[in-house]
Amino acid sequence: MGGEAILHIPEGINFDCTGCGNCCFSWPVPLTDDDLKRICSLEIQGHQKEPVHVIKAGVAGSSGQRAFTSALGKRADGKCQYLSPDNRCQIHNQFGEEAKPSMCRLFPYTFTPTPAGVWAAASFASTGVLYNSGRPLTSQKEHLMRTYELFQSLYPDLAPDWTGLQLVDGQSLGFEEYLKIETRLLSALSENSAAGASSSSSSSSSSTTTSSSSSSEWRTEKILSGLAKQTSIQIKQKRDLDKVPGLETKPRTVDSLLVSSLLTAYFPDDVYKENACEIDTAQLARSLVMPPAKVQLQFDGGLVNFSDLNNYTLGRLNEQAESLLRRFAYLKVFSKLYFGPGFAGLSLIAGLNHLSVIVSLVRIVIKLQNHKSNTKGSEIAFEEVAECVRMLERRLTVASYSRETKTMLEVLLSSSERAERIAMLAS
Ligand code: SF4
Repeated sequence: MGGEAILHIPEGINFDCTGCGNCCFSWPVPLTDDDLKRICSLEIQGHQKEPVHVIKAGVAGSSGQRAFTSALGKRADGKCQYLSPDNRCQIHNQFGEEAKPSMCRLFPYTFTPTPAGVWAAASFASTGVLYNSGRPLTSQKEHLMRTYELFQSLYPDLAPDWTGLQLVDGQSLGFEEYLKIETRLLSALSENSAAGASSSSSSSSSSTTTSSSSSSEWRTEKILSGLAKQTSIQIKQKRDLDKVPGLETKPRTVDSLLVSSLLTAYFPDDVYKENACEIDTAQLARSLVMPPAKVQLQFDGGLVNFSDLNNYTLGRLNEQAESLLRRFAYLKVFSKLYFGPGFAGLSLIAGLNHLSVIVSLVRIVIKLQNHKSNTKGSEIAFEEVAECVRMLERRLTVASYSRETKTMLEVLLSSSERAERIAMLAS
């Protein structure tokens, strides 16, 4: 910690490795030169001394990160070459945690440096985090501090600029002022929360969680859009695309185009396609000016009419699933990974509405899956929701939006009414 930084740790968030092997599957593990040298020097049982599967990755440093010069190769089945048949890391087993690649030691923890300290969190790409299983992060302070030192060594120049925060495009927001708003946001995401009921996901400022998880009033996405609306009171000059005179495109058509674009970006059919997470802003802009007769959603290799969504039935999400969605939103807000330098440079209002819409997207995806598998009305398996959240987290992690995309999102997400309408669609 260099003796300086204050580490903020979220309450109600648990993690210990579940040994599922999921994080050692499919995704490239970048290596620094030191990682590569260390691994090459180890006599790993069943492996040649020279690791033949190392791929030169060209993932050299950007935005303050130390250069990752190569990546671990995968076996033909997509798993890391060092993953044993019982889903254990052979390097860890033989030589201890410190011998593993830096990225493997860092995962799933995240750290957000700010002028008021460092906010620790964890990624929902991890099974342990999705299930909130293991020890509370608050009881892992020493480990988190060591992991933060590792993070600093990997990202020595990372210094997110929090000076340019905006409440809404064109209206600046000081960091101290933001922190006051954040306290209210975290409190609201904890109060009345189904999240805490089964997984003790509550903030320090909230100790009771009594509401029914099935109450649509307390659905996470509605809380988020409601918070955005409340916070909008501070906007000096309100602008709303829905109310622009002369704009022919109807608000609901704009909703459908936004949902279509975000669904393609965050739930692509081919997750390995290059730039799969990018939004086609030129196409979106054309559609806004000249909307197609029918807006269609790309889903599972086919096309679905957006208007049919209203006729599809969403099965019931149980308390554990609702809790996961609430915890996801809570941690995004806690870690500040949803606006400003934390996500795409969005303003606070657009960031909150975006967060609301992506939670709605999880329900929309499940609705589409229910319809396809003809399982409407029944209770949704928690695993189904967890895999949607995992996919979303992975896409958010790789999303790197152009200035045009950011501008487009800023305009489309300035309206909490839009986020509310999309939440209705997802019900
Ligand atoms: S090196 Fe170990 S922890 Fe890292 S991806 Fe491979 S098996 Fe998993």
